[in-house]
Amino acid sequence: MTVPPVSPSRTARSETLFARARAVTPGGVNSPVRAFRSVGGTPRFIAEAHGAYLTDADGQRYLDYIGSWGPMILGHDHPAIREAIGEALAGGTSFGAPGEREVQLAETVTRLTGAERVRFVNSGTEATMSALRLARGYTGRDFIVKFRGNYHGHADGLLVEAGSGLMTNAEGNLGAAAPSSAGVPAAYAALTLVLDYNDPAALDQLIQERGPDIAAVIFEPVVGNAGVLLPTPDFLAALHRVQAAGVLLIADEVMTGFRLSLNGATGLLSLNPDLRCWGKIIGGGLPVGAYGGRAEVMDFVSPQGPVYQAGTLSGNPLAMAAGLATLRELEADPGLYRRLDAYTAELAAGLSAAAAAAGVPLSINRVGSMLTAFFQEAPHGSIQTYGDAARSDTAAFAAWFQGLLARGVYWAPSQFESIFVSAAHGPDELGATLDAATAAFGGMQ
Ligand code: PLP
Repeated sequence: MTVPPVSPSRTARSETLFARARAVTPGGVNSPVRAFRSVGGTPRFIAEAHGAYLTDADGQRYLDYIGSWGPMILGHDHPAIREAIGEALAGGTSFGAPGEREVQLAETVTRLTGAERVRFVNSGTEATMSALRLARGYTGRDFIVKFRGNYHGHADGLLVEAGSGLMTNAEGNLGAAAPSSAGVPAAYAALTLVLDYNDPAALDQLIQERGPDIAAVIFEPVVGNAGVLLPTPDFLAALHRVQAAGVLLIADEVMTGFRLSLNGATGLLSLNPDLRCWGKIIGGGLPVGAYGGRAEVMDFVSPQGPVYQAGTLSGNPLAMAAGLATLRELEADPGLYRRLDAYTAELAAGLSAAAAAAGVPLSINRVGSMLTAFFQEAPHGSIQTYGDAARSDTAAFAAWFQGLLARGVYWAPSQFESIFVSAAHGPDELGATLDAATAAFGGMQ
């Protein structure tokens, strides 16, 4: 099945909806990147989605590479998920009391990941926020460390970005970063220390100088939120060293969990985090997050322990059913991750070849079914840090994105995001994508 050509002029209904939305919702969207700010044009309002395709309010069909920003690893409207949600729905939508599905999903997650305890929440943001409170409660320390360009949701203490003068500098002054959002008190941000990703020396130095003050280091084991960045072996080794200082290691697997393997990036990279955070795939397209890890740490969570965390809709039966069905499908198909990897590897190779033929500088980072095509020549062979990624030609990316969209391929509308391939993407989709991408590169000259 090839992607039907799209007429970019057919956006009238999306335009109307966007105007109505802007009158009642800030910026017209409920999450910023959906507004197409960095790529321009009208955000498409989606009416429905099936398999690898989105259909917008104007009836235009697009081959989808967002997959709801990660959750839809099986493709949209998967029959097993639909059936599981329907079955749960017939029994009521929310109880505010425990139910069997929560136990089943927790049993599945602990079995697949080796985490000893798991607590369900409603989003990735809640998961990371709760994991940090737990780390502080467990260690009795206040500071946390995060890495530049890693995104862990929008809790206050995580919305910080290091100004260069506040990061580890040549004199060894280690300081807190400034808030990267209005509304985040400087006093909160002061408790978040920010380092460059893939800078093991800076991490070692910080732990040496401030270790006893630091509750946790939180990190994306494979970064998706600066575009895809892969951890270097030296950086992974430095991450492991922080545990010797009594600092908890928190792997934020909201994006990578169940995407890179059944045991996420932790399995793929042989990590040994104390705590992990999940979201996206774990809810099968419904709002679920989770955090989990060693029993000794997790048992600090209320009502077992003194760290409070709660949720009216946590463990919601529909969401648990969707998550359970998703993990069952993933487990039942042992070749799935290999197929996703093979598709995405071919996509990467095809994009590189097409860009080279068109004379467009392009550097691709990819792992499994996550990929970012950075519009630049990689400075030292590959893009490794936020600073590297930030040198990309965002105007060139925007032009290419529009070229793809006009040809019916819906790429992530930002240079600094990963795309997500699903099980519903097959050879026809690969061919159609490479045709559209080649034409879009050609159109940039
Ligand atoms: N952590 C990571 C690595 C993410 O990619 C995201 C969202 O994209 C979050 C946390 C926040 O999750 P949510 O948007 O469900 O709050």
